[in-house]
Amino acid sequence: MPDQVNRQWRLAARPTGAIQPGDFAWREEPVPMPGANQVLVRTRYLSLDPTHRIWMSDMDQYMPPVEVGAVMRGGTIGVVERSNLTDCPEGELIRGYWGWQDYAVLGADALGNRLPKDSDLPLTAYMGLLGSIGCTAYFGLLEIGRPEPGETVVVSAAAGAVGSVVGQIAKIKGCRVVGIAGSDAKCGWITDQLGFDAAINYRHEDVLAALRRHCPGGIDVAFENVGGEILDAVLTLINLNARIVICGLIAQYNADRPVPGPYMFRNVLMKRARVEGFIVSDFLGRFPAAIAELADWHAQGKIQYRVDVVDGLENAPAALPRLFDGANQGKLIVRVSGP
Ligand code: NDP
Repeated sequence: MPDQVNRQWRLAARPTGAIQPGDFAWREEPVPMPGANQVLVRTRYLSLDPTHRIWMSDMDQYMPPVEVGAVMRGGTIGVVERSNLTDCPEGELIRGYWGWQDYAVLGADALGNRLPKDSDLPLTAYMGLLGSIGCTAYFGLLEIGRPEPGETVVVSAAAGAVGSVVGQIAKIKGCRVVGIAGSDAKCGWITDQLGFDAAINYRHEDVLAALRRHCPGGIDVAFENVGGEILDAVLTLINLNARIVICGLIAQYNADRPVPGPYMFRNVLMKRARVEGFIVSDFLGRFPAAIAELADWHAQGKIQYRVDVVDGLENAPAALPRLFDGANQGKLIVRVSGP
């Protein structure tokens, strides 16, 4: 190992507007050595998420922002390569947040989140459906949206990692589901493969007119991943006691000035709607039960997922903007090492 280096991406600058390659700096450091009661993990996969853009800013947010100069934060899956912990042998698979680097030293407190070594599913599943992505869809829809059978659920960024799972859970719960996505191919995937009742390509269609057509009885649950004009169109058609789940507002993450609020906010009053934001970590203690149910639905063929894997840690900064131009086709992941 002494001949190896720990390649890292560090935050070099806080972005203004869209993320630029120069916002990250490449560093090569010696591989750290684990001390007593520590392990050395080697990163297999790195998760790329819209929230990276939030963490790169110094605005008030749900976690401390990443400091300029620090290793970029990110969800990771890795394998234990050296261990000084008796109950965590080499070869264990660990999920964590050690960020955009090849190696990290972890203490016993960071090792709670171990992954099965005998799973039929690829490791990448644990970064999407069977990880915080699946839990976001699960808790956001079921705990905040509380859909009832027969209700109409509208999902934005519907072909993305979270949105695609939201729509499928809503179908399992007996709802009518309409997705909004940014290409005909994505719209075709969610209707033809995932069972959504209808899809709207927001880049080519008048979203409000299309929603009127596809939601003749109005909207009961809106699962919002985007914000902006899409949220406005949805608010225009909400029913009495609608639930608006604020999961994400990706359309404004790159904004470099204050963004106007929704013009149709008055409908929250008229329709006595509930608008509620959440962060998936609010439900951390309940992740195992949610993941077990998601795995069960997947095994029964009721939920599908797809991953979009980019090879090489060196390509992470160039891949991240794909979440913002819609180029990603499913959960965006970087393969850092291994098969
Ligand atoms: P996705 O896989 O959905 O990728 C992001 C997608 O957003 C893109 O593929 C693109 O799809 C769409 N998008 C990007 N910019 C715009 C825009 N300006 N207008 C409309 N659509 C846009 O990512 P995730 O599933 O990981 O995340 C989806 C949302 O969920 C994000 O808002 C994220 O912040 C949020 N989230 C929230 C969590 C929480 O705890 N509250 C946890 C995890 C995610 P298209 O081609 O359709 O435009």
